Amino acid sequence: MQKHNFSAGPCVLPKEVLQKASESVLNFNNDNLSLLEISHRSKPFVDVMENARALALELLGLEGKGYKALFLQGGASMQFLMVAQNLLEKRAAYLNTGTWANNAVKEARIFDDILEVASSKDANYNYIPKGYDIPEDHDYFHCTSNNTIFGTQMKTFPNSPIPMVCDMSSDIFSRSLDFSQFDLIYAGAQKNMGPAGTTLVVVKEDILGKVSRKIPSMLDYKVHIGKGSMFNTPPVFPIYVSMLTMQWLKDLGGIAAIEKENEKKARLIYSEIDLNPLFKGFAAKEDRSDMNATFSLINDDLKETFETMVQEAGINGLNGHRSVGGYRASMYNALTLDSVKVLVEVMSELEHKA
Ligand SMILES: *Cc1c(COP(=O)(O)O)cnc(C)c1O
Repeated sequence: MQKHNFSAGPCVLPKEVLQKASESVLNFNNDNLSLLEISHRSKPFVDVMENARALALELLGLEGKGYKALFLQGGASMQFLMVAQNLLEKRAAYLNTGTWANNAVKEARIFDDILEVASSKDANYNYIPKGYDIPEDHDYFHCTSNNTIFGTQMKTFPNSPIPMVCDMSSDIFSRSLDFSQFDLIYAGAQKNMGPAGTTLVVVKEDILGKVSRKIPSMLDYKVHIGKGSMFNTPPVFPIYVSMLTMQWLKDLGGIAAIEKENEKKARLIYSEIDLNPLFKGFAAKEDRSDMNATFSLINDDLKETFETMVQEAGINGLNGHRSVGGYRASMYNALTLDSVKVLVEVMSELEHKA
């Protein structure tokens, strides 16, 4: 039975990417060796790394603009501390829009003082705060472009007077933005790019080297840049699969092309949530995410019927995060419009049954 994978992460990947990835495990590069058993310093893998780094900058439109792309380990959670360790000298400003943003604040506080410029914690993070000030005398401003758990997304970004750092784990490569407004972007691979195990970091080189503390080599962006993202053995498989996904996206026409699909998927699910009297959305309308739609049943008596129908339709991963409850339809790049149609049909069938 065909599955429709709405998992929030690790998430759906393009079929042809999975096909090529599985071939590489048995016979990489037609060499009768597995990608998993060759040296990461061999030419075939160095080519993968170089290609992946170049594709990331190309897709974001950041080639030749002073940025470097790295594929690091430790997940986006490691970036919560690496960002502070590399950039925080006195005080940094953070926008608190959800669990992940809050975790970023917590980790940065280990190093120094953090100012929360605004927070939507008072309303269980169901909206994006607006109209806050970013003080000029702080080291950097940190925000989270898409709040995976709560289903909110920043539609605009502030005109920051200080370097802007953004956690784009769950909407990287999903929509067109002027990415040069950011000085550092990071994203765990497993939401929109590949398997867990690597994190993309895109950093403008001239913001580095300004803190006085000693930074351990593994946590120092400059060390990783100097070694071409190969300071130690990189996670070859997640990087290879991420490269394949970026190549797939480029062949489709890049971010501009996938953005149109993502908008169609989001319009379809949100119009069903808004029009179907059995459901209600969680996030404030103007802030709701094109990647993760959060919603719930108004009458919990229908829970069992709905969930049985969902399962019978082959829908996977629809349960909401425990801090929100209800349901969450994650519609990352590789999820098709047809899968969203299947979910919307189930929702509307429930209305006709009830
Ligand atoms: C999933 C997620 C993280 C955590 O990623 P890990 O790679 O598991 O550390 C951080 N930020 C956002 C926005 C996420 O969606």
